Amino acid sequence: MRIIDDIKLDFQDVLIRPQRSATASRKEVDIIRTFKSRNSNQEWQGVPILAANMDTTGTFSMADSLVNHNMGTCLHKHYSIDDLCEFIKQRTDSHHFFYTLGTGKKDREKLNRVAALVPVNNICIDVANGYTDYFVNRVAEIRAQFPKAILMVGNVCSPEIVQELILQGGADIIKIGIGPGSVCTTRLIAGVGYPQLSAVIECADAAHGLNAHICVDGGCKTPGDVVKAFGAGSDFVMLGGMLAGTDECEGEWEWENDLEWSESKDKPFVAGKIKVNQDGKLKQKKKSLKFYGMSSSAAMNKHNGGVAEYRAAEGEIKRVPYKGPVKDTIHQILGGIRSACAYVGAKTLKDFSKRTTFIKVNRVK
Ligand code: 5GP
Repeated sequence: MRIIDDIKLDFQDVLIRPQRSATASRKEVDIIRTFKSRNSNQEWQGVPILAANMDTTGTFSMADSLVNHNMGTCLHKHYSIDDLCEFIKQRTDSHHFFYTLGTGKKDREKLNRVAALVPVNNICIDVANGYTDYFVNRVAEIRAQFPKAILMVGNVCSPEIVQELILQGGADIIKIGIGPGSVCTTRLIAGVGYPQLSAVIECADAAHGLNAHICVDGGCKTPGDVVKAFGAGSDFVMLGGMLAGTDECEGEWEWENDLEWSESKDKPFVAGKIKVNQDGKLKQKKKSLKFYGMSSSAAMNKHNGGVAEYRAAEGEIKRVPYKGPVKDTIHQILGGIRSACAYVGAKTLKDFSKRTTFIKVNRVK
């Protein structure tokens, strides 16, 4: 047994110190990044924020909305081959979404069938534990099969395995996060994890030393956390919980039924009764979304026919309030990034981490 004495940090353990600058206009901040992928040699350009490949958030509708903001989506693994092919065929901008798969035999067969029919340019290989030789070997196989695809893989949270996945696996972007997710219970069930801010700082250094990139995955609860992830050196930020509850999500909605249609334009609904449209049909308004971890019992029951005997669920089930269209959430996040860049005098998102000084705090607010 060994203990590492340094205290590792999470987003809520730090704030960013403002600093004097000549240019401090939010409007002028350039938030577009251009990355040259180390192993595929391909370019990715856009606002480096991605929707997580959870079955609620990694949806076609999310991909179509986020592309309008120059952002990406990791499509979830549970779409049928036909639906995936149809979607990919109809989109001219294939640059902004990632095809996601696990490492099982069925995942590989599905990828092969899809790739035989439509171009698969960006691939995300996603497993809960990216530390096994088996995983590194599967990544290397997919790299050999798709030499020109941008390959994002994970999850891990320490520099040595980041380097191995880049050098041995041929990955371009490593996904960082063990245990920080908003509906993840790995830290509680397995006692395993790593505070996310320190994981990002340490892994970014390892990846950037090899001209590769990282994507923070999990733990961003507020626009300020997204800012801190970029400040710590993450190239991409992946979001699940922050996007959950937006119109673009798929899943089980809870509806508000306690309102009734009224003729008044100022006050179209009357509280306290079942609401109906003018045509008499039931009118429904979203109230909350069932949001659950992809290793929760809810997800395993839905997709795997139950939780296997040898494992415990490592995800929880929550209800997140309805948030309206995703563009409202994006507006908040981009506002936060621009504001932070102005506070530290960074003209571009690329420069932001160089101008970031974190201060350790006892409380953020
Ligand atoms: P969030 O942005 O909600 O904090 O984190 C999203 C990330 O949590 C996902 O991209 C994924 O990496 C992770 N995640 C999703 N479901 C589960 C789960 O059931 N268990 C664990 N350990 N992680 C999960």
